[in-house]
Amino acid sequence: MTKLIMLGTGHAMVTKCYNTCFVIQSEEGAMLIDAGGGNGILVQMEKAGIAWESLNAMFLTHAHTDHILGAIWVIRKINALMKHGNFQGDFTVYGLQDGLCYLEKSCQYLLFDSLDDRIHFTIVKNDDEFSVLQMHFKVFDIHSTKMPQIGFRANIINDTKEQSENISLVCLGDEPYKEHCLKYAQNADWLMSEAFCLYKDRDKFHPYEKNHSTALDTGKAAQKLNAKNLIMYHTEDSDLPNRKKNYHDEAAKHFGGNIYVPDDLETICLN
Ligand SMILES: [Zn+2]
Repeated sequence: MTKLIMLGTGHAMVTKCYNTCFVIQSEEGAMLIDAGGGNGILVQMEKAGIAWESLNAMFLTHAHTDHILGAIWVIRKINALMKHGNFQGDFTVYGLQDGLCYLEKSCQYLLFDSLDDRIHFTIVKNDDEFSVLQMHFKVFDIHSTKMPQIGFRANIINDTKEQSENISLVCLGDEPYKEHCLKYAQNADWLMSEAFCLYKDRDKFHPYEKNHSTALDTGKAAQKLNAKNLIMYHTEDSDLPNRKKNYHDEAAKHFGGNIYVPDDLETICLN
């Protein structure tokens, strides 16, 4: 079984939940996607019950603070485990050139220990492909107007059923879907997309000025992309107790598939 564990679901400035980041976990291991903005990643990993030793890789969508600063803590933790002989194998960080360069330099300046040579920084760009465990990733440029950012389409081999079948998971990063990404994002079993706020609250949160979208817009895009399941994240946190229902109902006005609005630490089974 492959699971998605949402470690955080909020946008950059949230205070009632953690910044958006998640783990894709299978029996063989796990991969972290983004790391949030600080050492709250240590808390979220502990609360989720994910062993650091089970992580094989980390993928960074872009170098904004709410996605990359937690990565320094991830590397600090894994490096310490490696130095003490408590981490088997390698750990690979995938990301764009600028982000990885910044991260590696930050680790060199800020961390006391030198990095273990089993920690690898692998630069990826549009159309690159790589595999982690039973998952094959295709990287795509999301065409951000703010800062270079990548998303991915992962094909996950599902061996748990009698016949192995692949599951597709698309992550659009933290900006709205753009037409350039159609060929990567269409017909996904699982589509992960930001929804900064509700359409009815657009005058309060100004999503469009920040290059974000609303639950209504995200539902429209998911329908157009023919997704089976939609996961919405990277939201404001003014009404978390009612977020699930409110965001679901707006997206459902346009999207006929299943809609998930996970809370922090919620697990979604992908197969
Ligand atoms: Zn963000």
